[in-house]
Amino acid sequence: MLGEGIIKGMAETARNFLGSYVSDERLTTVQYPEERSPQIENARQFPFLVFDGNDPTKGLRCVACQICEKECPPKCIYIVKSKDKRPDYKGQMQLYPATFDIDLSVCMSCQICVEVCPFESIKMDTAYELSTSDRFGGLVMHKHQLAKPNDHYRKIHPTDAAVSDAALAAEIAKAQAKARADTEAKAKVAAENKTKAAAAPAPAAPVVATA
Ligand code: SF4
Ligand code: SF4
Repeated sequence: MLGEGIIKGMAETARNFLGSYVSDERLTTVQYPEERSPQIENARQFPFLVFDGNDPTKGLRCVACQICEKECPPKCIYIVKSKDKRPDYKGQMQLYPATFDIDLSVCMSCQICVEVCPFESIKMDTAYELSTSDRFGGLVMHKHQLAKPNDHYRKIHPTDAAVSDAALAAEIAKAQAKARADTEAKAKVAAENKTKAAAAPAPAAPVVATA
C-alpha cells in the first residue's frame, strides 16, 4: 500500500513519544554530546589500517598491492609503494606503503576497500567525531593516523575480528607447514646425494706408462 512505510514510521514515533513518559526503554534520544548511544557491532564509519604487535611501522599488514586504491569508487585512497621490502606476518618479504592516505571528506563509507583487501589490512572504524574547520586537507588522514592495532579491531568488531584472526592463523600455519616440508625435502635430497656419493665406485688409479 502506498505510504504504508510512512504510517508505520509515524506509529513507531508516536509509540516512543508516549511510551517515553512511562518507560526509559522508549527514550530513543540522548543528550549528545554529554551522552552517546552505544554503537552496534557492525556500525561502520571510515577505514583504518590494522597493525599487529606494538609497532605500527613494523606491524602494518598492508603490502601496498593497491587493489583498494583501484577499487575505491570515489578514488579517495592514495598509495605510494616502498622501494624496499620487509617481512610480513608470515615472514615473507613484502613491499609496504611508503605513503597511504585516505581523504575522509570524500570517502562514502562503502567498505569496498575492506571487501577487496586480500590481506585483512584495512577495516572500518566506528569513530565519527572527526569534524574540522579545515575543509582543504583537514580530513586527509595519513598512514600514521590510519594505523590502529588489531586489539582495536577486536574491541569494535569482535565477531569479524575473530574470523579475521582465524584466517590469518590458518595462513601462518600453512606457511609454517610448507617451510617445514621444504626443509625436510632439502635434507632428504642432501642425504640421498651423500649416500649415492658413498656408494659410487672409487675412480680407477691412473695407468703409468713404462718405457
Ligand atoms: S570506504 Fe569506500 S569510499 Fe571509503 S576509502 Fe573505502 S572504498 Fe573508498
Ligand atoms: S590495504 Fe589491502 S588492498 Fe589496500 S593496498 Fe594494502 S594490502 Fe592492498
